[in-house]
Amino acid sequence: MLSAPAFFWYNGVVTRPKKGGPPVTAHPHLRQSAIPAAVAALLKTLHEAGFSAYPVGGCVRDLLLGRQPHDWDVTTNALPRQSEELLQSCRVIETGVQHGTITVLAGDCPVELTSFRGEGGYADGRHPDTVTFGVTLQQDLSRRDFTIGAMAWDTEKNCLIDPFGGQQDLQNRLIRAVGDPDCRFAEDGLRILRGLRFAAELGFAVEPETAAALRRNAPLLQNLSPERVRAELQKLICGRAAAPVLREYIEVIGVVLPELLPMVGFAQNNPHHNRDVWEHTLTVLENIPAEPVLRWAALLHDAEKPACCTVDAEGIRHFHGHQQKSAETAEAMLRRLHCETRLIADVTELIKIHDIRFPATVETATRWAGRWGEKRFLQFTELRRADTLGQAHPGEAEPYYRALRAAYDEAKRQNACFTVRQLAVSGDDLTAIGLSGPAVGEALRRLLRLVQGGTLPNERAALLAAARQQE
Ligand code: ATP
Ligand code: MG
Repeated sequence: MLSAPAFFWYNGVVTRPKKGGPPVTAHPHLRQSAIPAAVAALLKTLHEAGFSAYPVGGCVRDLLLGRQPHDWDVTTNALPRQSEELLQSCRVIETGVQHGTITVLAGDCPVELTSFRGEGGYADGRHPDTVTFGVTLQQDLSRRDFTIGAMAWDTEKNCLIDPFGGQQDLQNRLIRAVGDPDCRFAEDGLRILRGLRFAAELGFAVEPETAAALRRNAPLLQNLSPERVRAELQKLICGRAAAPVLREYIEVIGVVLPELLPMVGFAQNNPHHNRDVWEHTLTVLENIPAEPVLRWAALLHDAEKPACCTVDAEGIRHFHGHQQKSAETAEAMLRRLHCETRLIADVTELIKIHDIRFPATVETATRWAGRWGEKRFLQFTELRRADTLGQAHPGEAEPYYRALRAAYDEAKRQNACFTVRQLAVSGDDLTAIGLSGPAVGEALRRLLRLVQGGTLPNERAALLAAARQQE
């Protein structure tokens, strides 16, 4: 555990130095009006009861970057039981009382309220052996992992409490560990991934000593729970600078995702490709929207290309079957990380279909959106676009994407029939004309194909007539 600094540093413009006290700093982005009413009420309740309470961590960082925080963490010298007693009018979830954290559901803004705490010993490299309450704010800030998340906002004095130079690091766009980076990563290996996650989300560099320690300690990533690893990895790959971070730290990420490593430097020697498999993958990742399903699919869509590689007489490389094999590998990886079943199914299905080519017409859009479902069809269009942008002829990506989306929009406008549920007849209608058992489903699917192919209008009378004929 890091020893607490003897005093606070206050960065920024000193506006109201107090006699004998620490200088007070006002920051243009730290405005009371930025605090949601529910958070302000929570702070007021704690302050009026004589406790100190400060917004801390990510919300302070986001405010200093001029962004609206997506959630609020508050640190207080009140113990969890004392806070709960004061906040009886709010719904409180005992998220981790033994670690001093409760979640206060005030208005529509959940606030993580954590008591000042120190941490002692990390024998397992994941959890503190002991947690001590009753420590100072300095000690509480010193147990936090990165300088940009170890700042608190004193809303009463309107000053920033920044003992480790977080504001300076924000200005310099640097991720720097609080204290000795080797010790901090040895305490909790997850911080290695958190550091890279912040770098990917914010587009920051990792400060050299922190980066070196992060590489040295990478093996510690093996001891972590899959859920914690997945949460950080998913945020990392959804970051706006995911590709450069993955490129620079692939050997660190490779500890938790070793299946990525064979892609690195694997030449494709194919007229469709001008990058190795890994560089192609990173370009796809960069060009796809930052949604978990799409980003996982982009990262893993070609994972098994190296294993599927064959070379023809001209020396050209082919990767037959890599779609199916990559989907299987993706499924195993995402299961290992305890991802949600829905996400695993979406990613693997998308990888299986990622190389399918068809002309962009209303008819094909209707048929494929019908076969895959509209959600998957739209995901496919994004992956197709990003995949082409990462290939030798990127100029083809945008026109095809636009044509396919226009064809789909037109199909929707024409009330196209994507699924049997949208047919103007139901299974009951077909039962009424004498069909039974599996024949009902088969007939519905046949009618759907005829409607999608444009040979039959989606009208009840026409469909019933066709069904009778087929019988
Ligand atoms: P964001 O909410 O945008 O993901 P954040 O900085 O708020 O970023 P959280 O995971 O919400 O990150 O954690 C809140 C704060 O708690 C962090 O800013 C950091 O100070 C501290 N913290 C969280 N996890 C750890 C950890 N594993 N080790 C040390 N400090 C941590
Ligand atoms: Mg947070």
